[in-house]
Amino acid sequence: MTSLREGNTPVVKREDYAAPAFLVDSVDLCFDLDPAKTRVLNKMWLRRNPAVAAQPLRLDGEELNLARVLVNGEGSSFKLDGNQLVLEKLPEGDQPFELEIFTTCAPAKNSKLMGLYVSQGTFFTQCEAEGFRRITYFLDRPDVMASYSVTLRADKAAYPVLLSNGNLVEQGELDDGRHFAKWVDPHKKPCYLFALVAGQLVSREQRITSRSGGQHLLQVYVRPGDLDKTEHAMNSLMASIAWDEARFGLPLDLERFMIVATSDFNMGAMENKGLNIFNTKYVLANPATATDTDYAGIESVVGHEYFHNWTGNRVTCRDWFQLSLKEGLTVFRDQEFSMDMAGSASARAVKRIEDVRVLRSAQFPEDAGPMSHPVRPDQYAEINNFYTVTIYEKGAEVVRMQQTLVGREGFARGMKLYFERHDGQAVTCDDFAQAIADANPDSELARQLPQFKRWYSQAGTPRLHASGSYDAQMRRYTLTLGQSCPATAGQPAKEAFVIPVALGLLDAQGRELPDSARTVVLSETSQTVVFDDVDAEPVPSILRGFSAPVVLEFDYSDAQLLTLLAHDSDAFNRWEAGQRLALRCALAAVQSPAAVHQPLDAAYLDAMRAILRAPGLDSAFKELVLTLPGETYIAEQLDLVDPQRIHAVREAMREQLAHALHDDWVQAFEANHDNGAFRPDPVSSGRRALAGLALTMLCLAARENGNPVWPGKALQRFKDAGNMTDRVSALGALVGSGSALAAQALERFHALFKGEELVLDKWFALQAGAPDRGGNILPQVKQLLSHPDFHLRNPNRARSLIFSYCNANPGAFHRADAAGYLFWSERVLEIDAFNPQVAARLARALDRWSKLAEPYRHAAREAIARVAAKPDLSNDVREVVTRALA
Ligand code: ZN
Repeated sequence: MTSLREGNTPVVKREDYAAPAFLVDSVDLCFDLDPAKTRVLNKMWLRRNPAVAAQPLRLDGEELNLARVLVNGEGSSFKLDGNQLVLEKLPEGDQPFELEIFTTCAPAKNSKLMGLYVSQGTFFTQCEAEGFRRITYFLDRPDVMASYSVTLRADKAAYPVLLSNGNLVEQGELDDGRHFAKWVDPHKKPCYLFALVAGQLVSREQRITSRSGGQHLLQVYVRPGDLDKTEHAMNSLMASIAWDEARFGLPLDLERFMIVATSDFNMGAMENKGLNIFNTKYVLANPATATDTDYAGIESVVGHEYFHNWTGNRVTCRDWFQLSLKEGLTVFRDQEFSMDMAGSASARAVKRIEDVRVLRSAQFPEDAGPMSHPVRPDQYAEINNFYTVTIYEKGAEVVRMQQTLVGREGFARGMKLYFERHDGQAVTCDDFAQAIADANPDSELARQLPQFKRWYSQAGTPRLHASGSYDAQMRRYTLTLGQSCPATAGQPAKEAFVIPVALGLLDAQGRELPDSARTVVLSETSQTVVFDDVDAEPVPSILRGFSAPVVLEFDYSDAQLLTLLAHDSDAFNRWEAGQRLALRCALAAVQSPAAVHQPLDAAYLDAMRAILRAPGLDSAFKELVLTLPGETYIAEQLDLVDPQRIHAVREAMREQLAHALHDDWVQAFEANHDNGAFRPDPVSSGRRALAGLALTMLCLAARENGNPVWPGKALQRFKDAGNMTDRVSALGALVGSGSALAAQALERFHALFKGEELVLDKWFALQAGAPDRGGNILPQVKQLLSHPDFHLRNPNRARSLIFSYCNANPGAFHRADAAGYLFWSERVLEIDAFNPQVAARLARALDRWSKLAEPYRHAAREAIARVAAKPDLSNDVREVVTRALA
C-alpha cells in the first residue's frame, strides 16, 4: 500500500509544524501473533485538541490490511487517502470518544525491519521513527503521548515468552495451545517507544535496590545458548543505573527493566520504554568471542539506551527535527558515563580521543558534503536518513559546550530545571538550551544564548583561526582568535558561533606558564587574548580537550608541535600534536610530484620512539599516538582527492614506522603481550591494543625483510590466544601484511567459530577490509557474497562484508577501472528492494565523490546516476542520491 511517488519526493519542513488536531488518552492493543497474518485490535480513547481548529482525523498506516473501523462501538464511514485513514464524521465537542480499528499485517514478510517483524522465529518491533504506523493506524508523531495496555496472544510452544512495555499484570492459558500476557505501561509515551517481543528466549535476571530504596527487576533476554554472553551487558546496565542516580539524580522509574537481543536489527539498539531492543552486537560478549572494542561498545550502548529513559522518554521530542534533543544529549551522557567508568585521567583522555576521532573522520566529512545539515535540520524527505553523526556526535559536542560554558555543577543544575519544567512533555532543542541557561543566569551561555543556538541552526564545521605574536620588549604574548565557516548546501553565509576555546601556554622546555590556562569564549569574528610577563615566545596549546567541534588553524612550527607532543599537560593536545606532525608528512608526500618512499622525517620518528619508550605513559595512549591519521581524515584536508595516492602514502608511512622502530616494537610487544586472565578494563585493554599494533608492525616489517619469525609468532599467538582481542589482532596482522600464513589462519578461524554469528561478521569484515595488493579484494568480496554464511538480508552481515569494503577500505574501493563503484551501485539497488534504511546508509559511501580526482570522479558520478535512474527507488535512497547529484 506504500504509494511510490515518481520524481521529487515531498519534503517535510520544520516551519510547517502544527500541533495535533486530536489527542490520544489511552490505547488498548490486542495482538493475535502469527508470522503470516497477525491480527491487531486497536481501541483508543481520543479527543479533539481544544487548542486546534476542528478538522478531520487523519491516522497514518503503512502496509496494513484494514478490516473494521468503529466509533463509540458503531460502524463509521472513513476513507483512505494515500497512507492515511481519514475520519470526517466524529463526535463534536471535547468529549473523549472511542475508536476501534482492526487490521492485519504480515510480520514474516517484513524485510524492512520496521514495525512488527520476525527474526529467527521470534517477533520483534521497531517503531522509531515512523514504524508504529506499520502495526496499526495511529497519530504516528512523537508529540502524541498516550497510556498503553497491551495483550499478546500466541502459540505457547512456539512463543513461550511474551513481552511488552511496563508491568506484567495478567497471564494465562487459552484454547488450542495458545496463551496470553497483558502488559500495562505506567508511563505515558509516544508511539515510537512502543515495543513487543514474543518467542523462545531465556533471561539473566538481577534484582537491585536503588539508592532511593526502590526495588527493581533487571532482565537481559537472549536466545537459549547465549546466556553465557550476558554478564557484561547486565553489569553495564547496573553501572548505568547507579551512574545516572549519582551524577544527575535520575532514578529508574520502572519496576522492571528489560533488554532483549536480536540478530536482525537496522541500528545499534532502541530505547523502548522498559523494553529496550538491542542488536546482538551490543549485548553478547564473552572473552572468547568479543574484543575489547566490543566490550566498550556494549557498555556505551547499554548506557546510551538506559539514559534515554530520562532524556528521550520522560522528556521526548516535539517533532523529528528535534531529534538531537534526545540523541545529542544522550550521546553526551553515554560519553561522560564511559569516561567516568574509565577512571584515571589518562583513560578518560583516551576515550575523548576516540570520540573525537569518530567526529572528525565521519561527521566533518558529512558536514562538508551533500548530506550536510544542521544539528536541528530544517527539512527532510526521509527522517530515517537523519540518524546521523551530525545529530548524534556533533549534537553531543553542542551539549558538551554548554556544560563547558556553565561548568559541571551548573550543567547538573540545568538538567534538574529541564526536568522540572518538561517532565512528561514533548519539547524542542530551544527548551533544553533555555533550561541550561536559566539555571545559570550569570554564565556566558545565558549572556549569549541566541548566538550560541546557531550551533543548532547552522551546518558546516567552523574554522578557528589562531595566530600568536610575541613582544619581547613588553614581555607580552598576544593570541588572536578568529572564526569562519564554509558555506553548506542552502546556507551560503554563516554568522559567528560562540566557541569555547580551552588553552594554555608552554615555555620552550614544555613547562606550563603559571596562570596561563583558561577557557576563552570566542563570539566575535576576531578577538585577542593577551598574556603578560612572558619571558620568551611560548608554545600555545589551543583547543585543549577538543573544547569545540571546529578545525583549528594555527601555523605551528615542527619544533612547537614536538614540544606539545612531548610535554603538554593536556593529553588530547599531546595526541593532536602527533597527528598534526604525521598529517604534515602525509600531505607533503601526497602533493609531491614524484612518489615518496619515506614520507616520515627523522624528528617524527624520534618522537614516536620516545613515546613508545616513555615509562610514564599508558599503553592505550601510546597506541593512539602511534596510529597514523586515517585515509578519510587525510582526504578531508585536500580539495582534490586521489584515494590511491593517499593509500600508497599512508602504507609507506606505516612501513617506515614499522622498520624504523623495529626494536621498539619488539620491546612493546614483549612488555604488553601477556595479560593473564581477560578483563576488559582500560589498563589491560590498552596493553592488548599496543601489543596488537606492535605485532601488526612487526609483521609488516617482515613483509620486506622476509624474516618469517614474526609472522610465525603471529600465527602461534592466533592459535593460542586466550581471548578474541588477541586472536583477531594476530589474525589481522597476518592478513594486513599479506602473509602467506593468512589463508590457513582465516580457514581455521572460520572452522573454530562456525556457529557464532558475531564472530563470523568479523571474519567477513577482516577480508573485505584488508589492504588491496594488486586489486584482489573486490574479486574476493564478490566471492564471499555467495559464501553459505553470507546473508544479505541480515544487516550485520551485509555491513560486515559490503560496508567494510565500500565504506572502510578506500584503497580497495576506489579502483581506476570503476569496478568498485559498479559493485556499490548494484548492492545499493539490490538492498533497496527489501531494506531501504540499510541501502540508504550504503548509498552514502560516495558522498564525497565531487572531490575525487579523475578518473574516479567521473566514474563515481556515473555510478550514482545509475542508482538515481531507477524509477522505483525508496524515499531513503532517492534523497541520498538526489542530494549527491545536486
Ligand atoms: Zn539514542
